[in-house]
Parts: sequence; C-alpha cells; structure tokens
Amino acid sequence: MSREHLAVVGAGPVGAVLALAAAQRGFRVTLIEADQAVDENPRAATIHPSTLEMLDVVGLADEVVRLGLVARYFDHWDRPTRALTARLDHQLLADVTRFPFVVQLEQHKLVERALERLAEFGDADVRRGTRALDLRQDAAGVTLLVEEAGVETELQADVVIGTDGARSTVRKALGIEFEGYTWPERFLVLTTAFDFEAEFGCSYRNYFSDPEEWVNLFKVPGEEPGGRWRAVFPAPTGQEDDEALSDDAVRERLARLSLHGNPADQLLHRKSYRVHQRVAASFRDRRVFLAGDAAHANNPIGGLGLNCGIHDATEFVRALADVSAGASPGLLDAYAERRKTLNVEFVQQQTIANKKRLEESDPVKRASAQEAMAALAADPERARAFLLRTSLLESVDKSRALV
Ligand SMILES: Cc1cc2nc3c(=O)[nH]c(=O)nc-3n(C[C@H](O)[C@H](O)[C@H](O)COP(=O)(O)OP(=O)(O)OC[C@H]3O[C@@H](n4cnc5c(N)ncnc54)[C@H](O)[C@@H]3O)c2cc1C
Repeated sequence: MSREHLAVVGAGPVGAVLALAAAQRGFRVTLIEADQAVDENPRAATIHPSTLEMLDVVGLADEVVRLGLVARYFDHWDRPTRALTARLDHQLLADVTRFPFVVQLEQHKLVERALERLAEFGDADVRRGTRALDLRQDAAGVTLLVEEAGVETELQADVVIGTDGARSTVRKALGIEFEGYTWPERFLVLTTAFDFEAEFGCSYRNYFSDPEEWVNLFKVPGEEPGGRWRAVFPAPTGQEDDEALSDDAVRERLARLSLHGNPADQLLHRKSYRVHQRVAASFRDRRVFLAGDAAHANNPIGGLGLNCGIHDATEFVRALADVSAGASPGLLDAYAERRKTLNVEFVQQQTIANKKRLEESDPVKRASAQEAMAALAADPERARAFLLRTSLLESVDKSRALV
C-alpha cells in the first residue's frame, strides 16, 4: 500500500513539529517554507506543561528542557508601586503532569530542533525558499502551486495542511474568513541583557499591570551566559514604528522600568508586532486543513499562540493517522470543529481577559482585580485551578472529552 503524502505549508514551530509528528507516524511528508533561514525574531518563548507533554511524545521535550530556562513561578505585579501582587507556583500541578513548570525557550530553537529530527527521516522532503502560491483540489488529491527561485511548479499531495502563519496563503486560497479584529496598538518587544531579576526580585515570567503602560517581562536563554530579558509594551495607538522604536523612545521607555541604571544601555534587539484576535471560520476544506496561526491569532499575553498551535498539530496528526488506519473519516471533521471551539474558549477568551486586566484604568476595578489575584494565589486549590487553565491542561481534558 502506498503511503499517504502530506504537504505541510510553513516551517514555523507548528509546521516543523507537525511534519516531524507525521513522519514518525509513517506519512510521506513534504514541508514547504518560503524563507531560506529560520526566523530568529523574538516571538514565542513560553512553553506550557501541556505542550511539553506533547513535545515529549515526539521526543523533543528533554532537549527543550535542557536548552530552556525552567520557570516554576509566574508573577503578577503592580507597576506603579513595584509591588508583587501574586506569585503562582506550577509545582501545584505536580500531581497531573510530569512537567510542573513552564520552559522559556525561543521559538526558533524549537523549530531548529524539530527540523534536525525531521532530517533523520530519509524521505521527508524539506524545501526551503519555496513559497506556496495557490492550490486546487478534487476527490483524488490536492495540487499546490509553488514558486522556488522564481520558477513556478506544481506539487501533488493527498492532504495539505496550512501552517503558514497569520497571513496564511492556504487559508486565503480556500477563501476562508479570518474572523475577529486587530488591536489598534502595536506591541513592542525590547530585548536587553539588563538583570531584571536583581532589579525586582522577580521570576522568569512577569506581568506588570499599569493603566498608563503595562509591561510583560520574560527571561529567555539567549546566546550569552546569564540570559536576556524581553520587555513587551503597548505602543501608543497611532504611533509609527520609526517613532516608537527610536533610540530616544526606547531609552525613555526602559528607563522608567528600573531604579538602577537604564536597561537600554544593554539593548540587544527591538521589534514591533501587529496583534490580532482572529479565528478562521473553518479549519478544514475537504483535503486541506489549517493549524497554528494560520487558523487562529491572539495577543501574546498568556503565551498561548504557539502552544495552542502545537496542540492543533498533535491532534491533527493523531486524527489523520487514525483515519489512515481505518477509523471514521469524521475524526478529521471533529479535529477542525474541536480545535476551533477550544481556541475560542481557552485562548481567545484568556488572552483578551489578560490584556484587559493589565491595562484596566478604573481604580476600583483595578484594585478589585488585584485583590482577587492575590487571594487566588494564596489559596492552593484556586491557584491550581487557575494554572490548569493558563497552562492549557484543562483544554486538553476538554479536548479528550469532545473526542
Ligand atoms: C511578541 C510575541 C510573543 C509571543 N509569545 C508567545 C509565547 O510566549 N507563547 C506562545 O505560545 N505564543 C507566543 N506568541 C505567538 C507565537 O509566536 C505564534 O503563535 C507562533 O509563531 C505560531 O507558529 P506558526 O508555526 O503557526 O506560524 P509562524 O511562526 O508564523 O510560521 C509560519 C511559517 O510559514 C512560512 N510561510 C508563510 N507563508 C508561506 C507560504 N506561502 N509558503 C511557504 N511558507 C510560508 C513563514 O515563513 C513561517 O516560517 C508570541 C507572538 C509574539 C508576536
């Protein structure tokens, strides 16, 4: 019997892990990536316990833990007073997961590790510098129109999955709406070697709420001993990148974050991102599927986009393998419906609520949200329930129930 041929469009973290999982399940895999090199811009760094469990199944978790920073705690701060509001301890999840912590690791390192493993499969075909332009499908299969070094060719596959990010060509070729909205303000990511742990006594993951200007502070391993910190800020609405990322603006913004010198003196990188809350109207059209940012995009507060994408990848490959082995084809429809529902219920709702909590300007609501968070952190039962949700472990349980 000939092996089914899966074409994966987009070798970001979701496509790379999905392609590896599919190759391990015996599919013939072609992975198409427009860029020649892995994108090293600072995006995801937080890998939650539920996702570590999935990476364990494809043999990547131990390496991710080894390369990353193990973050047991997750802090909430009041920025104006520099007071710690709540510290949540992932160890409370030790009875339900082998990974009662988050790992902080830059997403390009996950991509590189997944591609290294994929290369061990002799017939897995990874085509960098190849862009999908369009597709058509019939009962027999899918034809992808791709462009490589200025030459357009066609590629046949039994099944295609678009993991080509928020501006997905695959989704557009299917005419699927990306429903939702884009936030008016951009998010700025400033990366510095400044030691924020010494500054605040903070953990590796921190939310600072502030009606004037909230901040998220995360530590990542970086390339140098001692690691580096990423500070995420909202840019004032309407401000152009040139201004928001200018030397003066960066210096001023980072100076306000420290009482002991300007973190801008150790600046390593600056970047701005447009931020969306959008979900594809459907994650499937016959033989073509969507996963990761191609299917859903959200603001990064909560660190859920990549995580949810890896969950999509895991569930898609499991459903495809089961159907290939003779299970009901309805499992693939169920994949598409379930992943959409879970994204809306867990990722969209949580990330919107996280943003609202950080930027709340009403003093009464702000004080009551902080009191509620402090009370929750002080109550192990409630803190555990909160972490089950933020780590997407609850979403995995719900997904199992929906299967
Ligand atoms: C500042 C910031 C911080 C974040 N932090 C977190 C976090 O801590 N945790 C978390 O879970 N998420 C986080 N996210 C979200 C996370 O980065 C994304 O959810 C993740 O990158 C999605 O992965 P993906 O593989 O679906 O898409 P992408 O990473 O966008 O990869 C898509 C790939 O497809 C390729 N491609 C595009 N079009 C084509 C085409 N036509 N043909 C071939 N290839 C194509 C692209 O070159 C790219 O390599 C963050 C995002 C930002 C901006």
